[in-house]
Amino acid sequence: MILFIFKIIIFITLNINYIYKNYLSIMEGFMLSNQKYSINYNYNYDFKEDEFNININYVKLYNRKIASITPPLITNNKYKHKKDSKVIYLTFDDGPSKLTLDVLKVLDEQSVKATFFVVGNKVKQYPEIIREIHTKGHLLALHSYTHDYNKIYSNYENFIDEMEYTQNLIYNITKYKSYIIRFPGGSYKRLNAEFYSILKQKNYKIYDWNISCGDGTGLNKDAEIIYKNAVSYGKHLNIILLMHCRQTDSSTLTALPKIIEFYKNEGFKFETLDKCEQDYIFPFK
Ligand SMILES: [Zn+2]
Repeated sequence: MILFIFKIIIFITLNINYIYKNYLSIMEGFMLSNQKYSINYNYNYDFKEDEFNININYVKLYNRKIASITPPLITNNKYKHKKDSKVIYLTFDDGPSKLTLDVLKVLDEQSVKATFFVVGNKVKQYPEIIREIHTKGHLLALHSYTHDYNKIYSNYENFIDEMEYTQNLIYNITKYKSYIIRFPGGSYKRLNAEFYSILKQKNYKIYDWNISCGDGTGLNKDAEIIYKNAVSYGKHLNIILLMHCRQTDSSTLTALPKIIEFYKNEGFKFETLDKCEQDYIFPFK
């Protein structure tokens, strides 16, 4: 009997070890096995300042059990196959502000398009800038109404209400209905399998980022540092670059032409996130 219990303990220990080695969360696995979405993990660990940049490539695998999940390293290789298409998605959060107009000017001069994750209460304040973003062919995306973490993350309903309200505000100005969202502060530790499934049922597409220019941390606003952060892309061939366009982000504006020129010289194509087929999100908590 004691030997039997001992064997069970060894078995459990080995399994925990195996799961750890594969960077998989077993709880996510159990949660997802009953749902129509399962996950293809695609890990790229990047630590930059205090931000946790990981990308996961979610693929719909209908009617499959969690056991069919591809180990992360294999999926990661798959991701790197897209060598012929170097793509960068410039994203600007927390606007619009008056500075957004200057950002639009730079984008115009450089003939590139970007995605703007706008905050609803600022949409109300600057409807003419929303119209300008849309008219110039950039993508409008949703970033809540209040950007107040206590309100947005108190329950799923508040989060969805704020996204829907912002979606309607944008629609009333542009007649464009956006389903592209970004969690304020990123989805890490805020999104789980259940919430993901609810958001997918509502047709939302969710995007975090894999490179941050660091202007969101609020500590260092030096344009040169912002530039260096933004161009440190490592091995990424598909980049979602996080930037901000609040009134206080003048250093980002200063760095922007150089950032765009850098990626042009590196052979990247500039796209808006509606061209990015799959969600791009951090791992579930
Ligand atoms: Zn934000």
